[in-house]
Amino acid sequence: MSIRLDKKTSKRGVPLPKVEIPATGSIEPASLPSTVILPLQRGGSVPNEPLVKKGDFVLVGQVIADSADDGAAPIHASIQGEVAKIATDVDASTGEVVKTIIINGNGGDESVAYKSTDGIESSSSKEIIKKIRDAGIISIGDGMVPVHSKLVDELKKKVDTVLLSGYDSEMYTTANYHLMLEYGQKVLSGLNIINMILAPANVYIAVEASREDAMASIEKLITENKYNFSVVPVKVKYPVVEEKILIDTVLDVEVPMGGVPADVGVAVFDVGVAKAIHEAVYEGKPYIDRVVTVAGAVSKPKNLSVRSGASISSLIDSCGGMTETDVQVIAGGPISGTEQFNLDAPLSSQDSGVLVMKAQSTHVIDCINCCDCVEACPMGLRPLLYPKQVAVRRYTEAQESYIDNCTECGACAYVCPSHIPVLEYIRIAKKVLSKVSK
Ligand code: SF4
Ligand code: SF4
Repeated sequence: MSIRLDKKTSKRGVPLPKVEIPATGSIEPASLPSTVILPLQRGGSVPNEPLVKKGDFVLVGQVIADSADDGAAPIHASIQGEVAKIATDVDASTGEVVKTIIINGNGGDESVAYKSTDGIESSSSKEIIKKIRDAGIISIGDGMVPVHSKLVDELKKKVDTVLLSGYDSEMYTTANYHLMLEYGQKVLSGLNIINMILAPANVYIAVEASREDAMASIEKLITENKYNFSVVPVKVKYPVVEEKILIDTVLDVEVPMGGVPADVGVAVFDVGVAKAIHEAVYEGKPYIDRVVTVAGAVSKPKNLSVRSGASISSLIDSCGGMTETDVQVIAGGPISGTEQFNLDAPLSSQDSGVLVMKAQSTHVIDCINCCDCVEACPMGLRPLLYPKQVAVRRYTEAQESYIDNCTECGACAYVCPSHIPVLEYIRIAKKVLSKVSK
């Protein structure tokens, strides 16, 4: 099989406008944060219990919270310093109330000793999965579940195809593109570890079709390392990065409503997670940092390697600060991101970027039943229903209208000529429904 397959174009979603993406240069470390706020529960993972108390001194990479539950992934200190507080806080992205550990740095950056290894050929899948669990890696984009429990589930379901997404989720974000260019060796090594665990028949790497340099670099590494992986160029349409849309686009396979990719024999990972898997398994390094794009009205837009729990303001400072005063700060991107009002809050693990935008005032008018949102919805839903149902608190009707299948991509709100914040209504309904079901 040739390394590069034919170009694919998503059948669903909305075409993105051409935007001028400022050069972000190579990935560089963000300045060491003076404080980090680490939630004990991330996305769909089970909450952890703290293993430290106020006043404890911690080193980088030290386990500070864990749980015996298989659905949890441990939390590690991302800076050296002192535990200032174990507090209850509101997660800035999800609005959920979560327990957090706050660490004040002391300027040092000493880590616990990481146990590296040269080879894993003699290790069993179980042993490799344990190393991934110990590193506390969380998947991005599919509800933030611990990667080890996702792998266990995929192993049980005997997936036969692995799909690695090198696609950036939103306009302006280029973190995955830079990861492929600058950390391709680690990314492919991580993908090879997944390949060893799941032993699928096919391994594909989906890359945005215009990223010729990233594809060429990945193909060169595949050849040099004799990996049996194929690269698939994917033409930009929003939100192709959503797992189900990506599977439909690349493999022409539809994941049923309410189902997960493993139900159709597919496992999807992202390049950042693949790099983290390599670092966990070969270097013994826990998941304490990741690459995010900081763009828009900042002095120098950058792709930064960011410590977990760093505040949004510290990331903006690492880019020379804002260049405008009347701005909106968005965690994520302009379509599916969430406006942030407290910049001291940490960037959530699910957000791939921070965008500083000139403040926009939009005039919301009544729904004109144009159905542009229905056309745009990649999941085949009728988004126009949700604002109407939420406005009169008919949340069960929203559920009956399959709101659970909404991936919160924001395409409906993006195309709405009445500027109805459809996604915000959806998020309110989902929050209420999840509380009711608990
Ligand atoms: S209803 Fe959900 S999945 Fe459909 S376009 Fe809106 S946000 Fe995206
Ligand atoms: S796009 Fe906006 S105005 Fe048109 S039907 Fe949907 S919600 Fe109504």
